[in-house]
Amino acid sequence: MEIEYNKELRDRALALLARFYGYRSFRPGQYEVIEAVAGGRDAVVLMPTGGGKSLCYQIPALLADSGCAVVVSPLIALMQDQTQALVANGIPAAAVHSNQPESYNRQVLDAAVEGKIRLLYISPERLLAEIDSWGKLRISLFAIDEAHCISQWGHDFRPDYAQLSKLKEVRPNVPVIALTATADRLTRDDIAERLGLRSPYCHTGSFDRPNISLRAYRGADSKTRVGFIASLARKYPQDSGVAYCLSRAGTEKLHQALLARGVRSVCYHAGMDAASRDASMKAFLDGSAQVVCATIAFGMGIDKSNIRWVVHNNLPGNIESYYQEIGRAGRDGLPAEAVLFHSVADVIARRKFTMDSGQQAINMEKLERMEAYAEARVCRRRILLSYFSEERDCDCGNCDVCLEPPPRFDGTILAQKALSAVARTGWTNIGIMTLINILRGSLRADIRRNGYDSIKTFGAGADLGYNEWSDYISQMVQLGVFEIAYDDSNHLRVTPFGQRILRGEAHVTLSAYVEADRNRKSGAAKAKKEIRQSDPTTELFEQLKAVRADVARRDGVPPYIVFSDATLMDMAVRMPADLDAMLAVNGVGEKKAVRYGRGFIAAIRKFAGLASGRQQGSSLRETLVLFNAGESVAEIASDKGVKSSTIYSHIAELIDNDMISDYGRVIDREAYRDIMETLRSNPDGAYEVLKERYPAGLVGVARAVARALERRTL
Ligand code: ADP
Ligand code: ZN
Repeated sequence: MEIEYNKELRDRALALLARFYGYRSFRPGQYEVIEAVAGGRDAVVLMPTGGGKSLCYQIPALLADSGCAVVVSPLIALMQDQTQALVANGIPAAAVHSNQPESYNRQVLDAAVEGKIRLLYISPERLLAEIDSWGKLRISLFAIDEAHCISQWGHDFRPDYAQLSKLKEVRPNVPVIALTATADRLTRDDIAERLGLRSPYCHTGSFDRPNISLRAYRGADSKTRVGFIASLARKYPQDSGVAYCLSRAGTEKLHQALLARGVRSVCYHAGMDAASRDASMKAFLDGSAQVVCATIAFGMGIDKSNIRWVVHNNLPGNIESYYQEIGRAGRDGLPAEAVLFHSVADVIARRKFTMDSGQQAINMEKLERMEAYAEARVCRRRILLSYFSEERDCDCGNCDVCLEPPPRFDGTILAQKALSAVARTGWTNIGIMTLINILRGSLRADIRRNGYDSIKTFGAGADLGYNEWSDYISQMVQLGVFEIAYDDSNHLRVTPFGQRILRGEAHVTLSAYVEADRNRKSGAAKAKKEIRQSDPTTELFEQLKAVRADVARRDGVPPYIVFSDATLMDMAVRMPADLDAMLAVNGVGEKKAVRYGRGFIAAIRKFAGLASGRQQGSSLRETLVLFNAGESVAEIASDKGVKSSTIYSHIAELIDNDMISDYGRVIDREAYRDIMETLRSNPDGAYEVLKERYPAGLVGVARAVARALERRTL
């Protein structure tokens, strides 16, 4: 019995998925969560960014017979993004927040009470303040997005979230689903407890994002970094990227440097006023800016599908944040790049940060794990996944370590040069930069002032570049040759191990320096080659992007709200020449097919050399879709270039198959009664009489309605 019930639920869920989202199947785990929540159970969902968390509460919201799902979200930008995407798919959704007039907020809430809204987005503080007065609102479920904000263990604690346990007190029977992409163990357990969930269904999705390539470079100077970022922007001219910096000043500096190189960049950090921040966000979302230089204030929940790369200009503080940030790239599943730049200076800055923070011990440990990732000489993805308790037994083949295993060499002589320079300057007097300048024989004023240009090791390492030395010294620090005195101007101290190397009693192995620059050049060359070799599909893909840009401009929405890159790619491969075929494209639901389909179909027909004009598909389904989209019979007929009578016959057939139940839109009560009465009283002459009174085909519809009503009473 139960099995049958579940099969029915599954079929309904799949039908909603196809109709509103244009997808054919659920991703692993999604349906199980949907079933649990639709059955009234609480749930905790951990999936990486881009994993598909939203459907886990949106489908249950649509499955509910009535009522409105209340979605708690920490940021206004996030709410706007989600509601815009839902409305574009034909799902009634709205948000209540302080960026819109209070009168509008009231209208939204009234509409929700009237059952006209299926998903309502709201901030935690507002929800907590108002929930007691929402007696009339039927709530199908609560969804807590970015749920890690509830936990003190998380990296983004928000006091308002801590009060959300109240929801279970006020509405004990409404299921609560908590969703997050952050997944260290402490946070996981904390979320369920703090929300007061009752034996929740827990789902942890795979955190693997195999389409994102991983790379890390140590010691590159700022010019190299800027050049690298600019080259990524050139490599993906149609797509966007995010460059994360540690400080506000850092974002401004990088932003200016990119502008100077002609890259369309904007800045985003918490020190900007709200209006400039919004302007930056908007420019980034609509593609007028290609790169955003940002602090971690940027990006939570951003669902822009064509972010092709994320560069970290500095070392992040922990792996959770890092993984969440790079997870914003490649959400369409197409190849994307994550590049991490780091230096000893970053480590020093981060350690200072951490020492000043609360929960020092935990944060320091997290930072160390992050450092280990950056320094890794084994597959980076394995390190990331093992952090999230997902062990892999083979290398990923899509990270720098896998692709270019670094050659190693005996670095003892290099270490001795560096050690002896430190020794000769008095053992604890210099930092890394000075050390490099001495080794390279720099004649900077501070070097001469201190007389460092006369010591024996001055210029002993002139054959290596600055970045190279910086890399090797970081490795030496990692390997314990030197220590950094964080409590003493970050000067270098020689460790006992270093002393032994200096005396020739120990050896050290270093991995060869990999130049960020070299990679950049080959990347740019490759990008050029790719453009030269462009095949027809790529060409069509580019044309479809142009159509999308037009449509987005016309409708005033960001391009990714129209269709994602993955959808356009599927379209370029399938080349749908009519609405029916268009509906088979992954990511094209009914609403978008009707709203946007034509322009794309026209472009495809032109590309394929087909006659323009009518885009007629194999009909029945098409008529249903257009009917569901609210078109009248006359409109559908003119759209498809056929007679109204044809459409009426489609509708009669659809009614016979129980695919249309809203008969009133096709035939009004009077007409129905009149037709049925005439058919009964005058079976032979009815046709002639009715032909005069009603459009051709309507009689067939009336008959189908009669059959349907009969089925119902049986
Ligand atoms: P998250 O909230 O976990 O970061 P989203 O819910 O925004 O991720 O989903 C990321 C992307 O994956 C979206 O573009 C979404 O439409 C797409 N997606 C989600 N579920 C499916 C599915 N079952 N089939 C195809 N695409 C999906
Ligand atoms: Zn790897």
